[in-house]
Amino acid sequence: MKRGHINNRSLTILLLLFIVIVFIASYRASQSPQSIEAIAQETSLPRNTPGIGRIDDERIKNADSEPGNWLAYGRTYEEQRFSPLDQINKQTVPQLGLAWYRDMQTTRGLEATPIIVDGIMFISSSWSRVYALNAVSGAEIWAFDPEVPRQWGRRACCDVVNRGVAVYKGKVYVGTLDGRLIALDAASGKPVWEVDTFIDRSRFYTITGAPRVARGKVFIGNGGAEFGVRGYLSAYDAASGELAWRFYTVPGDPAQPFEHAEMALAAETWSGGEWWKVGGGGTVWNSIVYDPEFNHLYFGVGNGSPWPRVMRSPGGGDNLFLSSIVAVDADSGKMQWYYQTTPGDNWDYTAVQDIMLAELEVDGAMRKVLMQAPKNGFFYVIDRSNGELLRAHKFVHTTWASHVDMATGRPVENLALDYSKEAKWIIPTSLGARNWQAMSFDAKKGIVYLTASEISGIYAMDQDWLKTGSYARKPLGLNLGIEIAGLAKIAAETPGALPSKGYLKAFNPLTGNSDWVVEYPHYWNGGALATSGGLVFQGNAAGKINAMDSDSGDVLWSFESYTSVIASPVTYQIDGVQYVAILAGTGGGDLFNGYTTDIASVIYGNHGKLLVFKLDGTEKLPVQQPVDRTIPLQPELQASAQDIAKGEALFQVNCAACHGFSVRSSGVIADLRLMSEATHQAFEQIVLEGAFLTKGMPTFDDVLDARDTRDIHAYVVSRAQADRNSQQSATP
Ligand code: CA
Repeated sequence: MKRGHINNRSLTILLLLFIVIVFIASYRASQSPQSIEAIAQETSLPRNTPGIGRIDDERIKNADSEPGNWLAYGRTYEEQRFSPLDQINKQTVPQLGLAWYRDMQTTRGLEATPIIVDGIMFISSSWSRVYALNAVSGAEIWAFDPEVPRQWGRRACCDVVNRGVAVYKGKVYVGTLDGRLIALDAASGKPVWEVDTFIDRSRFYTITGAPRVARGKVFIGNGGAEFGVRGYLSAYDAASGELAWRFYTVPGDPAQPFEHAEMALAAETWSGGEWWKVGGGGTVWNSIVYDPEFNHLYFGVGNGSPWPRVMRSPGGGDNLFLSSIVAVDADSGKMQWYYQTTPGDNWDYTAVQDIMLAELEVDGAMRKVLMQAPKNGFFYVIDRSNGELLRAHKFVHTTWASHVDMATGRPVENLALDYSKEAKWIIPTSLGARNWQAMSFDAKKGIVYLTASEISGIYAMDQDWLKTGSYARKPLGLNLGIEIAGLAKIAAETPGALPSKGYLKAFNPLTGNSDWVVEYPHYWNGGALATSGGLVFQGNAAGKINAMDSDSGDVLWSFESYTSVIASPVTYQIDGVQYVAILAGTGGGDLFNGYTTDIASVIYGNHGKLLVFKLDGTEKLPVQQPVDRTIPLQPELQASAQDIAKGEALFQVNCAACHGFSVRSSGVIADLRLMSEATHQAFEQIVLEGAFLTKGMPTFDDVLDARDTRDIHAYVVSRAQADRNSQQSATP
């Protein structure tokens, strides 16, 4: 072949090579994630912004000018979770169908609210994982796994959930279960900075809540009051991760100086005990709201640790700032006012439920208010300029207090239900009359759509405390201060339990009346989203995602998700198409509460998924078959009744929080009555050696020994055998 000359054969080879290269390149393009810029360019969302995915204070303040996006946890700084979008409305909703879905590859609880900006959805999942998705197609842009050590799951009272991320100035912020606040580059998902938010890593702190962003800062709290910690909220510089200020919610060791002036005020309300040894509680694990009108940050404070006040503060007192709404200056963290919903909390009545801001005409005058319906069963309307209480109506049947005295702002407790000497059934229970599931406010109607529960719970003092009058912190486990080991027996012997119910209410916060009420047979349902389309969207325990007429509560559209839903829906619009997105997958605080055979996640298994709907969507979910929950033949029991009783006490204290009280699983975490023979054989290795650590089962070798494990196993088998017997006698 002459130089410079290409014959036919060479040309053919070159052509073939070219085709192969082009094929490989295009194959790679279809396999590799889409870039954030490419997705943003595909869509025609408003561009008068600091750049793609660049949310800043101005953009969130003016969120109503771009209703196609969902820019912050509660959509706007007001967190009303009401969308002006109306393409999906009472007339069109029958055409609503699945646009796309994503298998979230988890069977743990899904609680997150997605953020949607410029065509991109940012969403978190179990174990604090974060995803950026194409909001139109669901295609993955990037995924970030903070690789939370699975052992940390033991420190979570209420599942390894995460309620969402914050997006701000080109970064995505996530708080991880093990306490890191991580700033990710919004375009690539790569970490930019990471800080440890915990003051003491030996204590059982966790983060499950969504950070909030404003004024160049990221605000984050944490959970852990059930294990014995001291609560606080931290503000970090959004650009650098440097700590700007920290507000403690309860006083620390009196031998140490106060960290900030508000602690002097708080310390006057604690008396006689050594609360700082257990921790005091007051964790800020959910609600944090920024108010641009006053430059306030409001946050909800959790329950005491331990739960009964007499153990923390035997001399009495209100125990500030437990169960309070606290307003601080967003720049300095200096307190502006507070309102305590449950002075001297004895019941795990956290005030961390979502807070929303509004302007309401109250008694003839326009007031800038905040609203909260916390666990204790009262719906509070408070003047957010000064903390003045304006309304406090009951929103479900509650027995712990008759009413709130509007002159003093204090609840009037039902002294007949004092459980310090004998056990009492009380409504609400620690799961609350409401929990973190979001409410939604239609300002034009003055109506709040809220998920609510009526659950009667048994409260009994820790048996050791009743005998000795003192409470010692358990450094590696629960520190509730109420009896858990013997609770099943106490509950069976104490009359007064009432059946549990769940509700969605169209509630008027000023009158305390409901326009309509939907009643559910199960109490652990999803959050609400109301829209200008005259609809309220909500998922429920039965696995249905419903669109209801906001005027009547009538179900106008319903979708079978095959998974119980607890998350709160959002809506967005891209290129003239409105979407509704919701995570399906139960868990959270209901793991403990035992078996309900008729919820979707028990029937079909708790397969977590993200579901996105639009008009005329044609995607189909695979049909799920019911899980076989026939309890198999159990190994022969060698243990004595005494061993089994010891096993029961150890199980309730160490295992029940996840595997369900009295071995009745909620359907989320392994039902131990269904263990295979191989699992029975490996029981000790699983509990003491971490054989299932990668599956999320922590080791307990620091609190249990081989003998304890054998007793627990014996108790599990005895419970399984008893339930197998009743299962078989129920089968015709
Ligand atoms: Ca709690």
